[in-house]
Amino acid sequence: MVQSSLLEPPPSRKRVSVLLPLPFPYPLDYAVPPALGDSLAPGDIVVVPLGGRRETGVVWEPTELPADLTPPPPPDVADARLRPLKERLDLPPMPAALRQFIDWVAAYTLAPPGMVLAMALRPHLRGEQTAPTAGWVRAGEPPSSLRMTPARTAVLHALPLDAEPMTTAELAQKAGVGVSVVRGLADAGVLRSVLMAAAAPFPEPDPLHNPPMLEGDQALAASELRARVAERIFSATLLEGVTGSGKTEIYLEAVAECLAQGRQTLVLLPEIALSSQWMERFAKRFGVRPAVWHSEIGQKARRLTWASCENGTAKVVVGARSALFLPFDDLGLIIVDEEHEAVFKQEEGVTYNARDMAVLRARLTGAPVVLASATPSLETLNNVESGRYRHLVLRARHGGAAMPDTHTIDMRENPPPRGLFLSPVLLEAMKTRLERGEQAMLFLNRRGYAPLTLCRACGHRMECPHCTSWLVEHRKKRVLACHYCEHTEPVPPACPTCGAEDSLTAIGPGIERITEEARSEFPDARIMVMASDTISGPTATAEAVGKISRREVDLIIGTQIVAKGWHFPHLTLVGVVDADLGLGGADLRAGERTMQLLHQVAGRAGRAEAPGEVLLQSFMPEHPVMQALVSGDFAAFMAEEAEQRRPGFWPPFGRLAALIISSENADAADKAARQLGLAAPHGNGIDVLGPVPAPLAILRGRHRRRLLLRTQRNIAVQPILRHWLAQVTLTSSVRVDVDVDPVSFM
Ligand code: ADP
Ligand code: ZN
Repeated sequence: MVQSSLLEPPPSRKRVSVLLPLPFPYPLDYAVPPALGDSLAPGDIVVVPLGGRRETGVVWEPTELPADLTPPPPPDVADARLRPLKERLDLPPMPAALRQFIDWVAAYTLAPPGMVLAMALRPHLRGEQTAPTAGWVRAGEPPSSLRMTPARTAVLHALPLDAEPMTTAELAQKAGVGVSVVRGLADAGVLRSVLMAAAAPFPEPDPLHNPPMLEGDQALAASELRARVAERIFSATLLEGVTGSGKTEIYLEAVAECLAQGRQTLVLLPEIALSSQWMERFAKRFGVRPAVWHSEIGQKARRLTWASCENGTAKVVVGARSALFLPFDDLGLIIVDEEHEAVFKQEEGVTYNARDMAVLRARLTGAPVVLASATPSLETLNNVESGRYRHLVLRARHGGAAMPDTHTIDMRENPPPRGLFLSPVLLEAMKTRLERGEQAMLFLNRRGYAPLTLCRACGHRMECPHCTSWLVEHRKKRVLACHYCEHTEPVPPACPTCGAEDSLTAIGPGIERITEEARSEFPDARIMVMASDTISGPTATAEAVGKISRREVDLIIGTQIVAKGWHFPHLTLVGVVDADLGLGGADLRAGERTMQLLHQVAGRAGRAEAPGEVLLQSFMPEHPVMQALVSGDFAAFMAEEAEQRRPGFWPPFGRLAALIISSENADAADKAARQLGLAAPHGNGIDVLGPVPAPLAILRGRHRRRLLLRTQRNIAVQPILRHWLAQVTLTSSVRVDVDVDPVSFM
């Protein structure tokens, strides 16, 4: 038997697993038609029947995962019951590293693997197909019977026998003739049509185009990062440095090294659509712009970028979280800029943290990852402390620019007049700066005019009919809007409860209201308002930023979009209207986040020669966050944070996972929450908080309850969650979302 099997060809595969971009818990098995028997391999893109439909999926093989993450095996299906796979598509297979990454992400987040695959499938499989462009090559010398006109000769000159294919239009243009001449030659059999290889749409960045001069900390950090890239193995490095210290400049040196090796780099930016200045800097350093990937680039650009990643011609891709799922041909480096940013966590669909998954992808790929931040997250600092990550620090701002001088304004001692929000101390500082021709900025992380509208007669509060939230007045648009769903309504002329007229009052400030106040104080100042609803899209943002840089603006008033890494050389004063804003609520990271956000806002000031000043309006200037911002000693602040989280096993000293139960029916949500609560796991080092109504108890009409699983760091949450969820059967009206490593507790 053994002998004969050696002589026979290997038995052809009878069945294969195929992962489909659909929410099944595992890949489905299909019978392999004899014609495909030997040729199918993992990663192949195939079409299979599903119900009455055809679906496109990927031939899958299980990834070896740690025991804690390994999902239960799929049920056995007998060979005889399998449906045959339809065909294999003539497309490059999905690389093994990407397939493994998909399995890891699914296992870690407990998302169905197909939903992770859906983020990684070529865009045109899910959209319209585009025909590849056809081009012309020479079929040979023209037959002597062909009459050679000057126009025809020009075409043949323009397209020598060994030339790369050209499209009709390209060829006609190069030869300086009409397209009919080209077609005529084709009809005569002199030109042959071929499919053109996708042209490389992204010219290669040149690592030697415009390198910076580096000294001291910068030179050291750059050479360390270059060495990590040259190693071609996994490593994780935190690049820490105050705003303006040159982190971007330095990690671009790592990109330069990766380019020199001919390999690809992925750069994740938190707010890619707002990154016009970053793109310009890249172009200045490397001569060309990078490839860009985010949800707003459009179908055509998506296909192009996707294909250029796959064939290796896009050397640097700058993207939002989803760029992690691009099929890189030869990924040599990943950079996560502003690694502490909460936007790296995707909150809908597959809830993954792109920062953490970037580290995972780098590890699976065997490439270095660099996390950059002025205010690293406690998670990352903890990884540095335990030796898992390396640490590079840039101590000072580049070129001797000083860090802005930060002070608090105690709002109990220096309050504004009733109904106003800017302290006389802040107004005075603004006046000084504006008189000197410098720019000032006011920051308030709240869109609209006022966060609450209240009836003075009966106390009624205007609330969203679909969410547990107050409606925010947008005075310019004359509406009340919910900031959690799309609901808007006109501002009513009378109170909807008591009918009192003219009794509705705006409570608290949004940036529209601050703008009104600033306008009346500084009627001559040229004011620019920057918020996601007033400036949307990359073009509008770039225009606004350009105006500020050209000094066509005196006063900038904005929400968090002004905090992004902008370089405003003439800005010397930043006023934070409500520094306490983020500190309420039950968010575990409220302090850390507020510190990070305000430091980033503060970092906009004084980036050139003129020294900057930051004024924080606060009712609790003694709060550790304010103290840290004033002293600039973030290390001490974070050490204190760590000591507060350690004893209770809060992250990063323990693990968290949330279950969010939701239903349009409040009773159904309650019942499911109770059932899950009764089935809650227990054991040493494991506890469960809840069920409780979520702070956003109703969202878009769905009633929400939360449970929070907390374990000690050495206990993985995934097997516990799997076991827990398997015990409870829920009605179809109830949905349970699993959120591993939650960032939002709403
Ligand atoms: P960060 O990313 O830490 O905020 P940047 O890399 O944006 O810092 O640097 C701040 C400013 O200083 C930028 O305008 C940058 O171009 C400039 N800069 C930093 N390092 C250098 C250098 N070595 N040579 C020239 N300009 C530099
Ligand atoms: Zn709403």
